[in-house]
Amino acid sequence: MRLQEAISTNYSKKALNIFLVLLLSITASMFFQGEIQAESDNGYTTDFEEKQERHSGTFFIAGSEQEKKTALSFDDGPSSDYTPLILDILKEYDIKATFFLLGKQVEKHPELVQRIAREGHSIGNHSHSHRNFTRLDWETVRKQEIERTGKLIEGLTGQSPELVRPPYGKITEEQIILLSELGYKVINWSVDTKDWREDNNHPGMLLTRTRLKVHPGAIILMHDGGGDRSHTVEFLPELIKMLQNKGYDLTTVDDMLSFSLSSDI
Ligand SMILES: [Zn+2]
Repeated sequence: MRLQEAISTNYSKKALNIFLVLLLSITASMFFQGEIQAESDNGYTTDFEEKQERHSGTFFIAGSEQEKKTALSFDDGPSSDYTPLILDILKEYDIKATFFLLGKQVEKHPELVQRIAREGHSIGNHSHSHRNFTRLDWETVRKQEIERTGKLIEGLTGQSPELVRPPYGKITEEQIILLSELGYKVINWSVDTKDWREDNNHPGMLLTRTRLKVHPGAIILMHDGGGDRSHTVEFLPELIKMLQNKGYDLTTVDDMLSFSLSSDI
């Protein structure tokens, strides 16, 4: 009897273990399906890669894979709540990043634009009003969104940005070509921290997501404006430490692309 009891206890333990493993895998697969669903919903990744291939030298989602560099980029600012905190952290770790500014925010916080430039970060143009370019005609995109914002930034820093990040990463093939004829480069991203998902942006989650996706040449998408970015601020020092521990050099988008362009990759 005792042997049978022992065997049956053993079996029920095994059954429990199997049950737990099954439960875990189901939960994990639900979680990952959710992630995959979110990616395919916006169709970003494939669309971005195709555009980078078709518009080599003009449209970028990443830099060269040959150098262990990565670029942090912040969109939708400057904001008085979060941009100063992000700049403080970057200064503390002696990191240069790239800020894609919105014209309407530049008008509200000119002193922050000057601080970003003074502290050696790169500035890109993220449109004036954050409208989806694919729903606008070219003249509106050029005059109202790009040139208007470029002039505002030039007035404050002495330089009009050559890097453009379209709102939501959305841009037509024709607009890419027309922007390149005006001397602009269009910069999207290869790693989305998804800090914009306010329902699902716990700092630990952002860190895991980025750690799994980062690669040499990655352009990492984050936000310093456009919503509650307190989790981005909390996550940033951990992100910097994680990337440095993995041996990455953190640099600006311009710096990363200058290598890609010079080596014609
Ligand atoms: Zn944006």
